[in-house]
Amino acid sequence: MDLDTVTVRVGEADTAVNITVYRNLLSDVSPYFRGAFEGSFVEATDRFISLTDVTEQTFRMFLQWVHTQVHQHSSGATIPSPVILLPGSTAKNAGNTTTGPVELQPPHRTQSVPDVGFLPDDISALDELGGHQKRWDVEEIEGLYLKESEWINGHRLSLLSFLRLYVFADQYNVPQLRDDVLTALTAQSISWSWWPDIEREMMESAYAKLPPSSKFIRLLVLSTAYCWLSKPGTCSATRLRTIKEMNEDFAFDVMVVQNERLKETESSEGMPFWLEDAMPNSCTLHEHLARDAANCRKRIRDQPYIFIGLIEMCAQDDLSIAEE
Ligand SMILES: [Zn+2]
Repeated sequence: MDLDTVTVRVGEADTAVNITVYRNLLSDVSPYFRGAFEGSFVEATDRFISLTDVTEQTFRMFLQWVHTQVHQHSSGATIPSPVILLPGSTAKNAGNTTTGPVELQPPHRTQSVPDVGFLPDDISALDELGGHQKRWDVEEIEGLYLKESEWINGHRLSLLSFLRLYVFADQYNVPQLRDDVLTALTAQSISWSWWPDIEREMMESAYAKLPPSSKFIRLLVLSTAYCWLSKPGTCSATRLRTIKEMNEDFAFDVMVVQNERLKETESSEGMPFWLEDAMPNSCTLHEHLARDAANCRKRIRDQPYIFIGLIEMCAQDDLSIAEE
């Protein structure tokens, strides 16, 4: 096994830090990094790359996810563990394989985040069956929204964190991470009975940083149409105006879905009326570039820790997206 290391500099000039990573770990999951480090580019000879538009926190979350990928196909071979854990978990080891000022403080927790401890070990039970077991009660969810503002804020921050990770996976072409973020977000949404709500910061960031065809945007559109404008009665003019003021592209996409699903109530044309019928599991949101659908489902059943890890990371990560 090739244990060559490379140095990745993340962050903007003043606050950038160098993180040393095994080259293969990056090349295995990303054609972008494979091209940079194995081609004839200067990055390959210098073994150095600078990612100024990525925060250290997001890059470490990516590395933590990478580590869960290594475990699955390195049976037998052991890779010395690089520093890829989030600050606060085992930051003590940070000196071993990193260079530069990487001594990190525990995450600065100003908002309470939902307890993710109740997630079952079996993510596939949520991803495949959860949606079928429950019809969403919009009033119940909206009641929660009004009462539990801290809880909601925690969810909101976690969602922004999923978005940051997805944007990274889009920019640096990590197809499996894009699919995995959507699986984790789906499982979390089902577990919490809380699908991503429309939110200005989220909309602006998603549409500014992702292509309109992105599956993350697709999830936001679906969850808004199915869960937040759920019944014809809740599809109020006020709500629609709010969405339109936030982002016209988003409003248009939502209305297309809404129109299609409302057709379903009168005929069998269009999209299914209920979310669990339209999206029986997260595979409907996947690109399946790194794995086909059958292998994808198998992996979700066999390796739930990948997705539980993502959910936990995003619940812990509460840095502001505004720094970018
Ligand atoms: Zn899939």
